[in-house]
Amino acid sequence: MDKNQLEDHLRFARELGVAGVSRDPAWRARSVEPAPPALRPPPAPRAEVRPVTIALTPVEGLAAIRAEIGDCTRCKLHTLGRTQVVFGVGNPEADLMFVGEAPGRDEDLQGYPFVGRAGQLLTKIIEAIALTREDVYIANVIKCRPPENRNPEPDEVETCEPFLFRQIDVIKPKVIVALGKFGAQALLKTLDPISRLRGRVFDYRGAKLIPTFHPAYLLRNPSSKREVWEDMKLVRKLLADT
Ligand code: URA
Repeated sequence: MDKNQLEDHLRFARELGVAGVSRDPAWRARSVEPAPPALRPPPAPRAEVRPVTIALTPVEGLAAIRAEIGDCTRCKLHTLGRTQVVFGVGNPEADLMFVGEAPGRDEDLQGYPFVGRAGQLLTKIIEAIALTREDVYIANVIKCRPPENRNPEPDEVETCEPFLFRQIDVIKPKVIVALGKFGAQALLKTLDPISRLRGRVFDYRGAKLIPTFHPAYLLRNPSSKREVWEDMKLVRKLLADT
């Protein structure tokens, strides 16, 4: 650039409003600044993610839970001789739900809870308050048979009980009868013995929960049927009142 060209260049710069020049190298480095907001391209519109609430009927809700359980391999019981998952049986819109411990041999073979000797006594207990098995819903805390009918182990209860909780939330019974120590302890999250829990009414997931003796215990201790009858009269009253 010769002297004349340089003068023209500086005059042009002055007309543009350039106040002066500097030999400081910092002036030569172009800093890259973000474009002012007005010049930035507008952000791409975001796809709106809205929670989808699908209202399932109790029948659909139970079918969805059953499908999710599938041929369950979540705990060790599937390796210990169980025949099948025993999900639950009865009226999906029942006001009254019974919760037992775990399937025994008959239940494991037939695929339904409480169909053995203890189950026949449970049927009589239900009929004693003028209901049928078809009116109520019956399920267990554990959905697979423990070997030799041993007690469910804590890891098995922990793995399986969320499915029971979901069954309860779908059915929304007014009254839940927890049968025996395992049913009551799993639902109430307590280690209190059934003798301490029985005779009391608990608020539980929108229902009234009544712990009572397990029918298998009654087969061994028939004199305790009197207490269970008292509990069932209370069940009948709660069903009528709520
Ligand atoms: N005992 C239970 O607790 N549940 C059954 O299904 C059968 C026997």
